[in-house]
Amino acid sequence: MNRVYLDANATTPLDARVKEQMSVWLDCGNASSPHAEGRAARDAIDRAREQVAALIGAHEREIVFTSGATEANALALLGSMRATKANSTFCSAIEHPSVLRTLEAVRNAAKLTVGAVDGHGTLVELPDGHALVSVMYANNETGVVQNVPALAERVHGYGGILHCDAVQACGKLPVDVAALGVDLLTLSAHKMHGPKGVGALYAKRGTPMEPLFFGGEHERGMRAGTENVAAIVGLGAAAELASVELSERNALWTRLHAELVGSVRAQIDGAHFHLAPTQLPNTLSMRFDDAEGEAVLLGLDLEGVAVATGSACSSGAAEPSHVLRAIGLSEREVEQSIRVSFHAQNTSEDVTRAVAAMCKVVKGLRALSGSSNAL
Ligand code: PMP
Repeated sequence: MNRVYLDANATTPLDARVKEQMSVWLDCGNASSPHAEGRAARDAIDRAREQVAALIGAHEREIVFTSGATEANALALLGSMRATKANSTFCSAIEHPSVLRTLEAVRNAAKLTVGAVDGHGTLVELPDGHALVSVMYANNETGVVQNVPALAERVHGYGGILHCDAVQACGKLPVDVAALGVDLLTLSAHKMHGPKGVGALYAKRGTPMEPLFFGGEHERGMRAGTENVAAIVGLGAAAELASVELSERNALWTRLHAELVGSVRAQIDGAHFHLAPTQLPNTLSMRFDDAEGEAVLLGLDLEGVAVATGSACSSGAAEPSHVLRAIGLSEREVEQSIRVSFHAQNTSEDVTRAVAAMCKVVKGLRALSGSSNAL
């Protein structure tokens, strides 16, 4: 029987239409070469740049292709810090490690302030005066969405730069850089049915930036290195599909979300959902009393259902999720938490099978631990 894959926030399956477009470009010229082979590769990259720019309402000249969101975040933060000689930075407590760890790594040069969030994961306060502020649009673990336009107004009020990690928002929410008011924005292909290892940074015209890599004029001097044409074509194709199918995907996720919450509540006692008033419809952070998240994940895996505990980056490592701790969950509750995240090809049948597997696994674990909360 087919497996049920409910871990889209870690990565999504590659869309067959994207794969087909990419396959043509696996073997191609160097986009910097002036001959026909090179020009063809350059044209393919230019088209992808238009598709990515269109997804977020940017100009093509504002898009820098990178090896993924981790690199785009590093370029945004380190590149703008170097260019502005920023001496203080601010980010929320629930940022992705690629933002938190980057800002921590340079805290000797620029003092880092980490802002607390409330029980839903919403940033509580944004003090004035930080030269560079980084706040994600939608969180990968709980799906909570921040009020980015309000943050942008605040940061621009005192002349700071706002970076936004929109990796989980792109392809799930409408993302318009002008409406958000951001200076820098990060996205990644593999979270929206594109390939792994490619992403982009949006840098608003005029934003002071220095590159991280030197030795080539690729990406308008912002990212030296021969472009991965097939991957960039895949990002472009995925971006176009994401904008065309945005409302259809959202309707699907809203329905699946309601079905999963309804079925779990009806069938399993002691189930809790970590929901925020404004959040991604594809993401569900939850926990079961008297059942370890790691054990639930492994049990579900044996039943053919793939979910996550915390984020993919922290599962596998013993470190409990900093995001769930920041929203006020106890150590015990964090350890019990799992994350279900839908992609564009999930179905109601996937939800039915996942909930049946959850009933079986949670019941088994509770029986083992002698819990009175049998189901
Ligand atoms: N930011 C967020 C919010 C993410 O979820 C991820 C992927 N887990 C990243 C950044 C890093 O993206 P990539 O895998 O493309 O480096």
